Amino acid sequence: MPKLSKDNEKKLDELAGLLTRSKGTAAMTGAGASVESGIPDFRGKGGLWSRYDPEEYATIFAFQEDPKKVWKMLAELIVTVEAADPNPGHIALAQLESMGMLEGIITQNVDGLHQRAGSKNVFEYHGNCRSLKCDKCFKRYTDVHMYKKQSPPLCSCGAPLRPDVVLFDEQIPGAVQREAKELASRCELMLVIGTSAVVVPAAYLPYMTKANNGKLIEINTEGTALTQDADISIFGESGTILPALLKIIKSRVDI
Ligand code: NAD
Ligand code: ZN
Repeated sequence: MPKLSKDNEKKLDELAGLLTRSKGTAAMTGAGASVESGIPDFRGKGGLWSRYDPEEYATIFAFQEDPKKVWKMLAELIVTVEAADPNPGHIALAQLESMGMLEGIITQNVDGLHQRAGSKNVFEYHGNCRSLKCDKCFKRYTDVHMYKKQSPPLCSCGAPLRPDVVLFDEQIPGAVQREAKELASRCELMLVIGTSAVVVPAAYLPYMTKANNGKLIEINTEGTALTQDADISIFGESGTILPALLKIIKSRVDI
């Protein structure tokens, strides 16, 4: 495990205390939580998003206007996600849940890596890449590889299919929005991990925790829009910080 700075050691020690005492802890994750799994975030050099401008390729309007063009990006996204494995950060979060220290994870990621790491209570705020859906007749398809035979893949009704992800300028599905809001408002502690905290409405969730006197802990490689409002900001890679946190907690629980 890479060595922690003295500053991070102190902050993790404090966080371990808060977590052990908390009566309800949630996590919210963003693209940064999966960077160490090989899925680039919006700024990753040479990654998907440096070749496909999200404004041009990831909005619902772009899909409606030219589904074939948007499927070039979607196909690469599916291939990237399928090639990735959970990293030590995902695994540490799953272990915290199984130890009863974490109620659930609200994730903005569409990669399914939290579930693959063993997390059970995962709210996929922006959907997932595991199925395709039709916006016209609402039929769903489990074979996400239909695009290999025909692009865009078509529904039996003739309309173009798209993955079950939330594109920019689209509404968050009502059920997950309610569940995420409920968890964020209720928890005493929220770990905000690897998100630039600017994509709304997800970026509002930590403020629901704060509005109910909950504490916000940020884990990110750098400062974000949330840093000034966080109670503790821990700067580092989630694949290093989260296993280090788990280790401290385990050493205390064992005593
Ligand atoms: P973002 O790309 O805007 O921000 C990522 C954040 O993660 C940045 O603040 C960066 O400093 C931080 N980061 C990078 N590497 C990190 C690491 N190893 N450990 C900790 N932090 C790290 O991502 P966002 O805020 O999630 O918003 C982008 C939108 O696009 C979201 O909907 C997001 O889920 C989606 N997206 C998803 C994936 C995925 O499913 N894996 C990948 C790219 C984008
Ligand atoms: Zn259809």
